[in-house]
Amino acid sequence: MELQLRDLRDVRTFSVTVTAAAVLANLALQSVLIPTDLIAQMRLPVSVMTLALAAPASFSVGLRLRDIHRLTLDLRQAVLHDPLTGAVTRARFYERAIEFGNVPMTLIVADIDHFKIFNDRFGHLAGDTALRQVATTLIRNCRREDVVARFGGEEFLILLPGTTLAEGACVAERLCARLREKPVLIEGERLPVTASFGVAKVESPAAMDAAIAAADEALYAAKRAGRNQISIAR
Ligand code: GH3
Ligand code: MG
Ligand code: MG
Repeated sequence: MELQLRDLRDVRTFSVTVTAAAVLANLALQSVLIPTDLIAQMRLPVSVMTLALAAPASFSVGLRLRDIHRLTLDLRQAVLHDPLTGAVTRARFYERAIEFGNVPMTLIVADIDHFKIFNDRFGHLAGDTALRQVATTLIRNCRREDVVARFGGEEFLILLPGTTLAEGACVAERLCARLREKPVLIEGERLPVTASFGVAKVESPAAMDAAIAAADEALYAAKRAGRNQISIAR
């Protein structure tokens, strides 16, 4: 059983439980170890002393356990999510793919068009803002169960479980259109940002790297065909 203290209420409950257990254990020990005629005189002072020691000590341990729980959550968030965009990391992407098992899946690779020129024109900070907004648009236009991961600088992978290649292509078309329709907002200015998309079928989680290679190839076909469009792997 894992002990998780989430907030001050949990800490108080933990402290009260530990203190009560210490006092009860102490009373039980007294009745075994101390002669009967002495017990009556000692019971109250020893119990008060146990209470006075156990209550602050268990409260302090409870606070530490709460801090450890919070740090564990922060650490998990940092390991699983890209700090700039909030998309999941590469490691989490593979974890989720394995969790989906052998359901039909489609993979989309999205790469922002001419992002180097965007950075050169508007600056790296504006580029970071654009990356965040693109990721938000991708995440908002996918289902909860879909996985949106940041794989490289300006490249995202989107895994769609329970989705055929034809359905995945529709999703890619929709995402491409949403980005096209939604310029990024930098200091009040609306700047157009588009992306190109490659779509491929995932045969099984074990064949993910082959699916990524196929989607990448399709992505480059979309780039060669003029960008701001999707291409489907043969
Ligand atoms: P293409 O349409 O062919 O994809 O052209 P591109 O310019 O988008 O591709 P290229 O690979 O030449 O450049 C990618 C750019 O993405 C260059 C790099 O500085 C930028 N980039 C990568 N990661 C980040 C980031 O975290 N923040 C910002 N601002 N820029 C990034
Ligand atoms: Mg690019
Ligand atoms: Mg790229």
